[in-house]
Amino acid sequence: MAVDPVIKELLARKAEAAAEGRVAGKVVFITGGARGQGASEAGLFCREGAVVVIGDVLDDDGEATAHALRADGYACTYVHHDVTSEGAWAQVVAGIVAAHGRLDILVNNAGIFPRGGVLETSLADWEKVIAINQTGVFLGIQAAARIMIEQRSGSIINISSVAGLQGTPGFVGYGASKWAVRGMTKSAAKELAEHGVRVNSVHPGIIETAMLHTFDEISPAVRGALNARIPLGRTAEAVEVAQLVLYLGSDESSYSTGSEFVVDGGWMA
Ligand code: NAD
Repeated sequence: MAVDPVIKELLARKAEAAAEGRVAGKVVFITGGARGQGASEAGLFCREGAVVVIGDVLDDDGEATAHALRADGYACTYVHHDVTSEGAWAQVVAGIVAAHGRLDILVNNAGIFPRGGVLETSLADWEKVIAINQTGVFLGIQAAARIMIEQRSGSIINISSVAGLQGTPGFVGYGASKWAVRGMTKSAAKELAEHGVRVNSVHPGIIETAMLHTFDEISPAVRGALNARIPLGRTAEAVEVAQLVLYLGSDESSYSTGSEFVVDGGWMA
């Protein structure tokens, strides 16, 4: 079917704009990119000219996110990818390099937020959150570093949390995993700097995604108490984290590595 000339022109203009984008031509892999912050990052990176691959275990959501971006004329594909599997990491990075020739940016974004304090967290619950939120990030850094060292360039962005900056009562496994992400980021940054690879962590506050609504519906009273803790007086939209991640992926952040970037409306201040 012939493409309508007006649409053709719009797409050409979009391609021109993308060619001048802040991450033009860079190849990006985003874990947990099917929805929430990861999907928002996929959209921003696409708009700024990157070739984006998203991975997740939610295949329907992942396909829908990638499809919507492709329908908008952007380069985005979805792959089923469980961050806890070392074999899956080897496969996904090899696939990206085979398809696109390189991997410039990795966003280790996938995560879960299980409730559980010190006394009620079972070993199985502990191992699950550590496997996804911590080991998944380690495997990602390792798999990406192998190719980024060869390229002598790359940016790895690890999504931690304000739970990686302070104690989080009632969420001992989540807190442990997010502190680990912050620590691993610094070790990896110091090891990989000489190879031209940067590694930074991002620490979101309270972001309006499905994760925030994992538990009971947030009542107006709870919402009021949450907002009262945050100097800017509100929770954030996913895109407000994505804008920071875009900056860290781009060459605009060329002198930042091993750092923690907080996006929390002033909460940790
Ligand atoms: P979300 O639940 O919408 O997104 C998380 C994504 O990770 C989901 O798509 C999920 O399917 C995916 N995922 C889970 N297990 C996976 C696995 N084994 N392999 C691959 N993908 C897997 O929530 P979000 O808010 O977009 O979370 C993104 C990141 O931000 C997480 O690391 C989270 O811990 C962190 N974070 C969120 C908040 C918040 O308030 N929402 C605050 C601080 C940090």
